[in-house]
Amino acid sequence: MSTPYAWLEDALITIHRADWYRSVQATQGRAGAVVQMDGQAVINFASNDYLGLTGDDRLMQAAIAAIQEFGTGSTGSRLVSGHRELHEQLERAIAALKQTEAALVFSSGYLANVGTVSALVGKRDLILSDQYNHSSLKQGAILSGATVLDYAHGDVAQVQQLLAQHRDRYRRCLLLTDSVFSMDGDLCPLPELLALSDTFEAMLLVDEAHATGVLGATGAGGVEHFGCTGRAIVQVGTLSKALGSLGGYVAGSATLIDYLRNRAAGFIYTTGLSPADTAAALAAIAIVQQDPDRRAQLWQNVTTLKQALSQQLATRSNLEMKLLASESSILCLQVASPAIVLHLGKQLRQAGIFAPAIRPPTVPISRLRLTLMATHDSTHLEKLVIALNQALKKTEGNKSKTKEG
Ligand SMILES: *Cc1c(COP(=O)(O)O)cnc(C)c1O
Repeated sequence: MSTPYAWLEDALITIHRADWYRSVQATQGRAGAVVQMDGQAVINFASNDYLGLTGDDRLMQAAIAAIQEFGTGSTGSRLVSGHRELHEQLERAIAALKQTEAALVFSSGYLANVGTVSALVGKRDLILSDQYNHSSLKQGAILSGATVLDYAHGDVAQVQQLLAQHRDRYRRCLLLTDSVFSMDGDLCPLPELLALSDTFEAMLLVDEAHATGVLGATGAGGVEHFGCTGRAIVQVGTLSKALGSLGGYVAGSATLIDYLRNRAAGFIYTTGLSPADTAAALAAIAIVQQDPDRRAQLWQNVTTLKQALSQQLATRSNLEMKLLASESSILCLQVASPAIVLHLGKQLRQAGIFAPAIRPPTVPISRLRLTLMATHDSTHLEKLVIALNQALKKTEGNKSKTKEG
């Protein structure tokens, strides 16, 4: 007999058939540049923990002290019983890092985007969104009820054209972009978007998830990197990547933050950030500000690996593989064939390297996605390059065999 839930099985079968089925994979032990998987130590090139702070003793001690003082949860929404002085300290620290008047902490970066976008615009408004934007920006746009127009990735001319054509017919307008694009590692054209937002009286929201703690002279992110500090921008980000904790935030003018505190459902109707997460993020921001060498080490690793990968690809032009232009700690080796990229990922894994193969529908063209950490040392990078070299040699061998056959 059929049940109202029988369609779930069918849906899963369809997902399997399309080769889009996904499952979770456990790592064991403390987070870091080397983790355990299936009892094997693997060098981790799949983490968003760019500064290696998640397993840092200072963050862990801060989290433990907060639990001992306040307990494990925050017991309520921030506007009712869940607000602590610690939350305010964290919000002041985020505002200081970003050099904005104020900041507001959310339970996750995902919720910060959904909550902020849907609070800033509604049915009478227009959103222009980069086609490669993060899922949370896209979901926020849908939830807002605004008219959403996607523009081609990084295409400023198209943004200008769409604004000229449509802006007049809408009340408010919001431009949405990631600052670092998570599946490519490239940056948005921020100064150009900011100029257009001025000309056409549009708000500009930038998602700094992969940029905070990484980009900019003080680690403030892409806004600082592009010299746009102090401009009228809605800056959203996460506490769960370079800052090694969990949670999200919005930074901007005091008026913006006051409005969101009163109107963002994703802030109002959810439990406040836990004391442990709040204290860990606060400790991470102090490290970002006091220890620029950590960020310098990350960038040194990016430069070293970029050079090594370029050299390797130069000698293997027959593989139709390319290193995508990146200005972040995310480096991608693009390979047209999903089968080849899966095979490369598996071979690296056998060699003790964790580097995920990313395939459609997540990205249009499949790729090996490598993320660097400040705590990778030179032997970690050397091992990756050697293992990749061997995996590529085998792939070339297979390719020429199939050509002959
Ligand atoms: C990870 C990420 C988010 C979500 O942040 P969480 O804190 O993990 O929910 C939002 N935007 C971008 C671009 C991200 O990469």
